Amino acid sequence: RTDSIFVKAAHHGDKAALVDSHGVHTYKDLLKRSEATAQRIRHALREQFDIKEARVAVLCPPDVSYVTAQWGCWMAGGVFVPLHHTHPTPQLAYFIADSRCSIVLTTKKFSPAIESIVESRGLQILHLDEEDQVEDAAASDMTCQRQPLLGLTDEEYASRRAMIVYTSGTTGPAKGVVLTHANLQASMMSMIQTWKWTRNDVCLHVLPLNHVHGIINALMTPLYCGATCVMLPEFNAPKVWFKLLSTVDTEHRVNVFHAVPTVYAKLIEDHEARFQCGISIRRAHEYIKAICSEKVRLMVCGSAALPQPILRKWKDITGHTLLERYGMTEVGMALSNPLHGTRTPGSVGNPMPGVEVCIARPNFYSANGYDAICHGDDRKTVVAEGMNHEVGELYVRGPAVFKEYWDKPSETEAAFTKDGWFKTGDTAQFENGMYKILGRTSVDIIKSGGYKISALDVERDLLQHVSIVEAVVVGLPDITWGQRVAALLVMKDGVCITAHDLKAWGKSVMASYSVPSIVKCVESIPRNNMGKVNKKQIQKEYFPEYF
Ligand code: ATP
Ligand code: MG
Repeated sequence: RTDSIFVKAAHHGDKAALVDSHGVHTYKDLLKRSEATAQRIRHALREQFDIKEARVAVLCPPDVSYVTAQWGCWMAGGVFVPLHHTHPTPQLAYFIADSRCSIVLTTKKFSPAIESIVESRGLQILHLDEEDQVEDAAASDMTCQRQPLLGLTDEEYASRRAMIVYTSGTTGPAKGVVLTHANLQASMMSMIQTWKWTRNDVCLHVLPLNHVHGIINALMTPLYCGATCVMLPEFNAPKVWFKLLSTVDTEHRVNVFHAVPTVYAKLIEDHEARFQCGISIRRAHEYIKAICSEKVRLMVCGSAALPQPILRKWKDITGHTLLERYGMTEVGMALSNPLHGTRTPGSVGNPMPGVEVCIARPNFYSANGYDAICHGDDRKTVVAEGMNHEVGELYVRGPAVFKEYWDKPSETEAAFTKDGWFKTGDTAQFENGMYKILGRTSVDIIKSGGYKISALDVERDLLQHVSIVEAVVVGLPDITWGQRVAALLVMKDGVCITAHDLKAWGKSVMASYSVPSIVKCVESIPRNNMGKVNKKQIQKEYFPEYF
C-alpha cells in the first residue's frame, strides 16, 4: 500500500517544503492552504451535479500557488489539468475544451491569458494569489492528521484519476494522458529508490510545470519524501548558476538538479560567455568543480537525447557526469543510468524499480512466448534470452504506466498489447547490457536504400564535427532511395558546410549511407518549452521542396 502525498506531507509538518519568490513554505502551511483551496473549489462547483473527477485547469506560476492548486484540486476530488503560460491562446483553449474543464485556477498576473476562454466557455475562475492564500490558510481548520480523503479508502483513492497531462505534441496533436494517483505514487517511489531521494535533499526547480519531468520528477517526488524544492519564477541562467554554487544559504543548499538538454546547453553558453578562454576559465572550472563536488550530489538529464558535447562540457565545468534517463508522459520514468557506477554516454541504462521493458520484434507474440528481449528491474531477462544489439520497439509495463488517453478509447486500445504492455512508439537497442534510444519510430527511423538509420545516432555523430553546434536530422521522401537523410544545422561560425564537404568528413565517422546528403543551416533550431524539436514541422518548414 502506498500513501497519498498528503499523508506523507503531514509527517513533515514544520519542515520547509518550498522556497519561492514569496519565501519559505512549510509542509503544514502547504496542507492548510491546499485545504482552503479545496474548500473554495467545492464551493465554486457545488451547483454541479457531481464534482467528483471534475477537471480543474491550472495556470499558475512556479510557486506555492501551483502546489496548493494541485493539492487543493485533489483534496476536492478533482482531476488536475496543468497548463503553461507560454502556450498560445488556441492551444490553451484546446486543452480546456478537450479535457472539458469546469473551473480554472490561476493568478491575477496569468489570468489575462485565459480570460477570453473562460468567458466563451462560461467557466468559473478562482484566483490563488499570495494574499488570498494567506487569508484562506488562516481560515482553514486542516489538522494535518491522517484521515480518509473524500471518505475513500487508500485503495479507492489511489485508483482515481489524478491528472491529465498533455504530451509534447512532437509526433501529432498533443494527447491527454490520464494518470491515476496510484500511477503517480508508483512513479515517485521508483524515482526515490533509483536516485535515493531523502528528506535532506534540496532540489532546484526550473522546468515547465505542464510535463511529467517538471511536475513529478522535480516537484512532487521531493515533496513526497519530505525534501525541499527551491522554485525559480522562470529559467534564468545566471540565477541557476548562483543557486547551484551558492554556499551562503546554509539551510537550503541545493544538492539535486533535474533539467532537459537545452537547459544544460544554456547554462554552458552563459558560463562560456562570462569566462573567456585561458587562465580565467580554468580557474573558474576549478572553483565550480570544487563547490559542485562538495555540495551537489546529483544532476539528471532527460526528456530528449543528451548530446555528447553537452555531457562532456558539463563534466569539464562542474566535474559531474550527467545522469541520463528515459521516460515519457505515458509511463513516467522507465530507464535510468546508475546513481553509483558507470554512466554510459548515449545510453539510458536499465529498467527502474517496478518497471519492465521489452524490445519487441514485429511479431511480439510467438509460439514460445514473446519474440522479444525483456527485462525486469532485477536486471535479469524475465521472458526470453535476447541477442546483443537487438533493435525493436520499446514496450513498457508496470504500475506507473498510464490508465488511458483522455476521451480516446480507440487510441488507448491500440497503444497496449493484450497483456498490458504499452507500445511506446520509440525504437530502442539493447547493447552491452544497456538500453539505447534510437528515436521515434515514426520520424527518427529513416529508411533509405534498404537501411534503417537512426536520426538520433546521426545527430550524435554530426556533433563530433568541430563547427557543428546543433543538428536535427530528418528523412525526406525520395523516389530512388525511399527516403534521404537531411540535416538542419547550426554552425559555430555561421558558415554553412556543403553536402559535399559533410560527406567527405562524415564517411570516417559514420556509415556512408547515414551521412546526410541534404544540408541546411539556420541560426537557431525552433524548440518547444521542453527544448524538444517537432520533426514533422521541421520537414515541412525547412524542406518544403521535397514534399
Ligand atoms: P507526442 O507523444 O505528443 O508526440 P512526446 O512523445 O515528445 O510528444 P513526451 O511524453 O513529453 O511527448 O516525451 C516522451 C518522448 O521523449 C519519448 O517517447 C522519447 O521519444 C523522448 N525521450 C525522453 N527521454 C529521452 C532520452 N533520454 N533520449 C531520447 N529520447 C528521449
Ligand atoms: Mg509520445
